[in-house]
Amino acid sequence: MKRQMSDNINHELKTPIGIIKGYVDTMIENPDMDEQTKHHFLTKTSQQVTRLTEMLNDISTITRLEEAGSSIPVEKIDFHDVVFTTANDVVESGLNGTMELEYDIPFDSYIKGNFNLLAEVLTNLTKNAVAYSGGSLMGIKMIAKNKHFYTFSFYDNGKGIDPEHLPHIFDRFYRVDSGRSRKKGGTGLGLPIVKNTIITLGGTISVRNRKGGGLEFIFTLPVWND
Ligand code: ADP
Repeated sequence: MKRQMSDNINHELKTPIGIIKGYVDTMIENPDMDEQTKHHFLTKTSQQVTRLTEMLNDISTITRLEEAGSSIPVEKIDFHDVVFTTANDVVESGLNGTMELEYDIPFDSYIKGNFNLLAEVLTNLTKNAVAYSGGSLMGIKMIAKNKHFYTFSFYDNGKGIDPEHLPHIFDRFYRVDSGRSRKKGGTGLGLPIVKNTIITLGGTISVRNRKGGGLEFIFTLPVWND
C-alpha cells in the first residue's frame, strides 16, 4: 500500500517537472527566441511550479495527519460555529463562485474536534462542488444525532459522479476526469485529505449520489460529552 502511494507520488510529480524541463531546455537551445514566445514559455513554467508547490503542500498535509494521528489537538467545538465562520469566509472571498451556499446546523452542536482542520474540510468540499458539480446550490446540514456521534451531510445539486468512480474518489490522485481536474488546479489529494481528517478526528465519511441529482458526502463526528 505504502509502495503504491510513493509510486503514485513519483508519477504525479514527474509530470510538471517534465513540462518545466521541456520549456527551460527549449529556451536554452533557442537563445534568439522572440520575447513573446519566451514570455509564454516562462508563464507556463511558472504555472507548473505553482502546481508542484500545491502538490507538495497537499502531500505534506496528508503526511502530517498520518504522523500526528491521535496527537492532533482536539477540543470542545460548536460545529455550528465552524460552519457559520467557514460559510462566511467562503462567500466573502467568492470561493462559492455562482453557487448558493446554505446550511442548517443547530446551535450548540458540540463536537470533539479541531476548528481549523474542520474548516479546511468544508472549504475543500465547497471548492470541489464549485469546480466539478455544475450545480447551483450546495449545503450542509445535520441529519442525525445519537449519544456518541453527529451525522452531517454536505450536498450539491449538480451532476453527481458516475457510479463506477464512486468507490475510488477518496483514493490519492484519483480523478474522474483528469484533464478537467488538472485544468481546475486539482492535485487529486483534496478528498484523501478530507477523509484522513475526519478519520483522524474519530469520525467516518462516505459518498453517494443523491436521488434528486448531485453528490452527497455523509460524515460523522464524535459528540463532546462533558
Ligand atoms: P481534485 O479536485 O484535485 O481533482 P479531489 O480528491 O478533491 O481531487 O476530487 C477527486 C475527484 O472527485 C475530482 O477530480 C472530481 O472529478 C470528483 N468530484 C469531487 N467533488 C465532486 C462534486 N461535488 N461533484 C462532482 N464530482 C466531484
